[in-house]
Amino acid sequence: MTAETPEAMPGAGDDAALEARACDAQRRAYAPYSRFPVGAAVRMSGEVFDGANIENASYGLGICAERTAVFAAVLSGAHRLEAVAVCTEASPPSSPCGACRQVLLEFAPDPAAVTVTAVNPRGERRSWTLAELLPDGFSGRELP
Ligand SMILES: [Zn+2]
Repeated sequence: MTAETPEAMPGAGDDAALEARACDAQRRAYAPYSRFPVGAAVRMSGEVFDGANIENASYGLGICAERTAVFAAVLSGAHRLEAVAVCTEASPPSSPCGACRQVLLEFAPDPAAVTVTAVNPRGERRSWTLAELLPDGFSGRELP
């Protein structure tokens, strides 16, 4: 069976390419322990960066797909988060965990303008703004 890409999905929006990148990254996840591969793609400062979850035999050392994508973006000098796509096998598609929501918020000048879309390779889709996923999140503006 061939996995359907989000580009072929009915109702795919402007971020179909971002969703396709997330599903491509999902195939490169390293998830031998959870067997829950996750791919993510973020558009930051106009460029797309992807990431996947990378686990470890020492379970607590694993990292989520969303954070690997954001950290790759920051290493490339991109600091302004514009959109996020996450691809899992879950039905309905999984939203980012709390830790990743906080990391996404760090780079979102306007969380209400950042769309977070969760998809799976079978064409299901859910979408929120980052402000909906993390209302009243902690920001550096609160630090002394
Ligand atoms: Zn996470």
